[in-house]
Amino acid sequence: MDPATGAQEITRPAGGRGATTFACGQCGATLSFEGTRTQRCPFCDSPNFVERPATVGLPDPQFVVAFVGDNVVAHRALDRWLGSRSMFADSALRDAKVEDLRGVYVPAYLYSTVARTSYTAQIGENYQETETYTTTGADGKSRTETRTVTRTEYRALAGDHLGYVSDVIVTASAGLANDELQRLEPFDLKQMRRFAAPLISGWITEEFSRSKDDCMKLSRGEAVDQIGHRLGRYMPGDSYSDLAYKTTVSWESLDPILVPVWVFAVRYRPDKPPLRVLINGQTGQIAGKAPLSPWKIGIAILGTLAVITGIVLGLRAYEQHRHTRQAEVLYER
Ligand SMILES: [Zn+2]
Repeated sequence: MDPATGAQEITRPAGGRGATTFACGQCGATLSFEGTRTQRCPFCDSPNFVERPATVGLPDPQFVVAFVGDNVVAHRALDRWLGSRSMFADSALRDAKVEDLRGVYVPAYLYSTVARTSYTAQIGENYQETETYTTTGADGKSRTETRTVTRTEYRALAGDHLGYVSDVIVTASAGLANDELQRLEPFDLKQMRRFAAPLISGWITEEFSRSKDDCMKLSRGEAVDQIGHRLGRYMPGDSYSDLAYKTTVSWESLDPILVPVWVFAVRYRPDKPPLRVLINGQTGQIAGKAPLSPWKIGIAILGTLAVITGIVLGLRAYEQHRHTRQAEVLYER
């Protein structure tokens, strides 16, 4: 174990004994199946999915966040999500098979670091001032009046911040981009367990397929962003501007981890890219975009316009009616 990074490299193929490895020719994900098999890639629904030997020399996962609930729970979440989007969704989506929902242990890295930050900012303090101004009264004469205005005074602030960032997770998956993983976060890392093969047995596991160096860079970037958000919350005064900071990281650790993700990828029209819905296998947090039907949206907009036109016409008729009534009343007098 490298004391500087806390990472450990063991040359042993990922996945348990008896697992079969398949590589996707479309998205590049390499997945290990035990028991359950699929003809298509769970990430992109590509049929270009071929068996191949497991890659050797990959990092062994150190930790795992386990799936909570089985695929019945995930189906329910997916049905709810599809249901709430069915109004404008492409009708081909309704014929999509929900059986294509698959649980995958996705490779990622868990990063932590001590971050030392020097920052500068302009801190705004509000104060109230009475100001006089000239106005022209109803009599046409100008006169002087007073009003209270809020002004902000800025002063320079510089300081140091020492903090621990411990919960950065970045993707090491070819099938799942980092921004997709971020939309599923957070994972509850208090429930994280030390890796043991039985924990993932029976599930699909993706091989680690992004380099550790790339994942390290990505992690540092996320950690520095987190520091920026923290500094923003921590700034004194009523407001601040020109926040600039420089962070130095030390005592970094980068550990291979597996995180649970339900993947639903469906090619519902041959000419369209597949729809992909992702569900956090621990929390049920869902991320996806239902393809919308331009026809349905168009009809809905026309419908709304018709309702608005109806209201406007109705109001006009009412106004006309009222005017007529008022006229009638005048005549009575
Ligand atoms: Zn694929």
